[in-house]
Amino acid sequence: MARMNNTSLVETPALQTLRTVFGYEQFRPMQDEVVEQIIAGGDALVLMPTGGGKSLCFQIPALVREGTAIVISPLIALMQDQVAALHQNGIKAAFLNSALTSQQAAEVERQFFAGELDMLYVAPERLMMPHTLSMLEQCRIALFAIDEAHCVSQWGHDFRPEYIKLSILHERFPTVPRIALTATADEATRKEIIERLALDNAKIFNNGFDRPNIQYRISENSGNAREQLYRFIRNEHDGEVGIVYCLSRKRVDDTAAWLSRKGLRALPYHAGLGNEVRQKHQERFLREEGIIIVATIAFGMGIDKPNVRFVAHLNLPKSIEAYYQETGRAGRDGLPSNTWMSYGLQDVITLRQMQAGSDANETFKRTERHKLDAMLGLCELTSCRRQALLRYFGDTLDEPCGNCDNCLSPPETWDATVAAQKALSCVHRTGQRFGVNYLIDVLRGSDADRIKQFAHDKLSTYGIGKEHTAVEWRTLYRQLISHRLLSVDIDGHGGLRLTNESRPVLRGETQLHLRKMTKKLASGKQRSKTPFGKAADTKFWDALRDKRKQLAAEQGIAAYMIFHDATLMEMVDRRPQTLDQLGLISGIGAKKLEAYGDEFLSVIAEYEGTASDDVNDTTDKTIQLLCKGMKPLAIAHERELKLSTIYSHLADAIAQSEVELSDVVDLDEKTLKAIRYEIEQSEEGKLKPVFDALGGEFDYGVLRCVKSHMSSRYS
Ligand code: ADP
Ligand code: ZN
Repeated sequence: MARMNNTSLVETPALQTLRTVFGYEQFRPMQDEVVEQIIAGGDALVLMPTGGGKSLCFQIPALVREGTAIVISPLIALMQDQVAALHQNGIKAAFLNSALTSQQAAEVERQFFAGELDMLYVAPERLMMPHTLSMLEQCRIALFAIDEAHCVSQWGHDFRPEYIKLSILHERFPTVPRIALTATADEATRKEIIERLALDNAKIFNNGFDRPNIQYRISENSGNAREQLYRFIRNEHDGEVGIVYCLSRKRVDDTAAWLSRKGLRALPYHAGLGNEVRQKHQERFLREEGIIIVATIAFGMGIDKPNVRFVAHLNLPKSIEAYYQETGRAGRDGLPSNTWMSYGLQDVITLRQMQAGSDANETFKRTERHKLDAMLGLCELTSCRRQALLRYFGDTLDEPCGNCDNCLSPPETWDATVAAQKALSCVHRTGQRFGVNYLIDVLRGSDADRIKQFAHDKLSTYGIGKEHTAVEWRTLYRQLISHRLLSVDIDGHGGLRLTNESRPVLRGETQLHLRKMTKKLASGKQRSKTPFGKAADTKFWDALRDKRKQLAAEQGIAAYMIFHDATLMEMVDRRPQTLDQLGLISGIGAKKLEAYGDEFLSVIAEYEGTASDDVNDTTDKTIQLLCKGMKPLAIAHERELKLSTIYSHLADAIAQSEVELSDVVDLDEKTLKAIRYEIEQSEEGKLKPVFDALGGEFDYGVLRCVKSHMSSRYS
């Protein structure tokens, strides 16, 4: 509750801008260094995970440096939102792209020439037009920011040919600092960015790739993935924003319809839907709250809605890169978010077949195969998933993360050697042409006609696998395929064949330890629907969100542009009473305070009483009054309680570090020292001798609070 007083003494122009314009108290690690580098006129390459706070790295220098900052972004659809969000903070920004009419474009150009713009967002193809370039040459440019800089990489999945031409900026504007930003650069892409954008002199800022607020969970699909998904959403994310990825359009349609029938607000999104529907669904996802988008991978590039609380996969992504990028759309606001994936045997078979059957050249296919193998490895992993993910991108995490399914409930492994031998030899005996279902029937001794027709009931492997259920065998076959002990026929019938790797297992030369087949499906920690334990807080929270929604609707913008969830949550926690107090909350800059401060204060005032009604904990009530600036004596009067009772509440609160000692007592350092000394001297910490030694000058309550503070600090 008590706010730490960590105001820096020297407030640089950058820090001042951060505080007054954006309402944030401190830079995040690395932001300040980047900002200083650019303000000083240098170039920078910034590698920061999604949600790390890349935007401020160029927005602050844009405001501090003289002239207009040019921001190059490939995401035309989002420029408008970004500019609208800047306007909310009172920043003069505009965009130039093909979505503008020529009249609108002319007006933007007028503003630019008049020096009225702090920031101008431009699409790369627009920037490259001779007209635009010569326009830029006529005015003062503060900096060039190249967002999503990995788009220059020809090997990446977001390649944009126009990005390669951006090296021209260096030639035509040699003195203007440039900052390139990305969240997805591995070593190779990083080199490519530097080379293609001529960023040889840029300082590189690498903040790693970890997304600590995202929880990773991967579970097996034993036939009811949709049901699992539904329960996951209802239990952990009811009413929240999420994305569900599926492999095929049909599955997208089916899943969206099914979830809607179950009462969730789910919308489909895939390339087959037609532009208009797609646009509409994306728009609703961005603007409304609580929408779940069910999509193929066609959805997501540049989706920067900050409060996506979960990303679910009903199918296996093709690579760890894809998985990381897709899951990375969760939790940009830094609040806890979940990723959930269900995958099964059929996924593995389908993806392997798709790859084997593609017309791509051998090198390409080999790369794809390795990528899928790495993804499967991640699924079958029994140790920390985050460590593995980061390792894949060349990052290290020294300790297991404690925020993935394997860390939270470590999976069991078992010695699967014998079972694997049975499964593999069944493939061998039946002639390496049957699919999993048939093989399982043979292993479990089914009396299906087909088996008799092939005389497979006479095989030595017939009926030797009754100790495991069909589901367990499916899991095992999936694992054998994942580990490349079996390969999948490409003719589309799913026949399995032995590989070279399977021989040592069959011969008993290698042991196989696998993830245990989970009988009970792992379900995640239950999280309450709202971040708050108390019912009154939940109501208050809802009221704040309603206010935000109403204000957003009036302006036709997304709710998060008014305030982020984190900002509203801080309001619930701190219950500011005045504009000044409200202004201290993170994310409320001068402009927003002026525009919305009174509106939100009146919501807070309305919920004043209700909160304390619900707080039956009397200590909380005392703390609330203290936080409003009342002294202990006044609180005692107000609550019609004894002063000693109030002090005992406060002593508890101090022990719990809920309030600072200095919030309760007004003592100078010398006096405090004297009191502390006497408490230390006192036998068993009794207060009577302390009271006496100090000549009865201090109330027992005050002494208790000091003592409480000492034990909280020194314990
Ligand atoms: P990125 O572009 O790296 O994905 P953003 O620039 O969108 O990330 O920032 C993510 C979130 O973090 C935004 O809500 C932003 O307002 C917030 N943020 C950025 N820097 C700070 C800071 N110094 N203090 C508090 N919040 C910040
Ligand atoms: Zn972990």
